[in-house]
Amino acid sequence: MKTKIYRGIPSIAALLLCFAIMFSAPLEIWAQSSISGEKQLAFTRSVNQLTAGKQYRFRVNAENVTWSVGNRKIASVSSEGVVKAKRYGKTKVYASSGNRRISVTLQVKGKKVIGIDPGHQSHGSNRREPVGPGASTYKARVSGGTSGTATGKAEYRLTLEVGKKLKKELWDRGYQVVMTRTKNDVDISNKERAKLINESGADICVRLHADGAASSARGASVLCPSASNRYVGKLHSKSKKLSKALIDEYCKKTGIRNRGISYRDDLTGTNWSSVPVALIEMGFMTNAAEDRYMASSEGQKEMAEGLADGIDAYFGY
Ligand SMILES: [Zn+2]
Repeated sequence: MKTKIYRGIPSIAALLLCFAIMFSAPLEIWAQSSISGEKQLAFTRSVNQLTAGKQYRFRVNAENVTWSVGNRKIASVSSEGVVKAKRYGKTKVYASSGNRRISVTLQVKGKKVIGIDPGHQSHGSNRREPVGPGASTYKARVSGGTSGTATGKAEYRLTLEVGKKLKKELWDRGYQVVMTRTKNDVDISNKERAKLINESGADICVRLHADGAASSARGASVLCPSASNRYVGKLHSKSKKLSKALIDEYCKKTGIRNRGISYRDDLTGTNWSSVPVALIEMGFMTNAAEDRYMASSEGQKEMAEGLADGIDAYFGY
């Protein structure tokens, strides 16, 4: 008798403990929601992807919502939950009500994808490659480029400096940007650069270069494939439109003399392109005044803005 009672006490305690564990958690949630009277906060209208320049109204299942975003450079949000996509990248969109906050990750896509090829690299490569698909003519993979007579700056440094500023300017204007290189010490041939941009899904390709000649030569020009180009002749009219928009806007912004369009069918990086392509010679590094202007950060800012203006003009933004 005594032993049975003794064994029964722990059994009842164990049973009560089980009940406590089983019901404690649900009871706690029930108690909280009945006190606050709030239901679970959730989005009733949302997206995960939006193109730069577009907007979308997010909604949640509650009143008195406070909206915010994680990165205001990527997107903004109004007090009504209208999210405006600004720049390529990712951000969170937050909705808060009372002490609850929920979020969704938003990918902002660029309104267009721009391929930028800063010409040359710190060491040229003399091995040869075909000048176009199926070509029997071969040229050096990539050459060293020219350099500034006044500043001594190498062309490959100038093109990368301007390329990086152009990338930032285009980002701020809602474009996505693909660069063929972000360092000087690389080994990427002109054919490889074109293929890299083709495969990136870029809408256009802008090739950045600077000229070298006699010290009196000055001005900017743009090199465009002709209608009879055997590799990219079908890209001629769009490339011409791009070339004209680029050189006109670039020269307008920088004040550099406009030497217009030259038709060239011997450029490997152009002939391998599968998208409209233009190569801009931004000025003469062998002209002291143009060299100094292009090497200065103020000059480069204007150059990048002028090129971005040309890209805007090409697309009609
Ligand atoms: Zn060059």
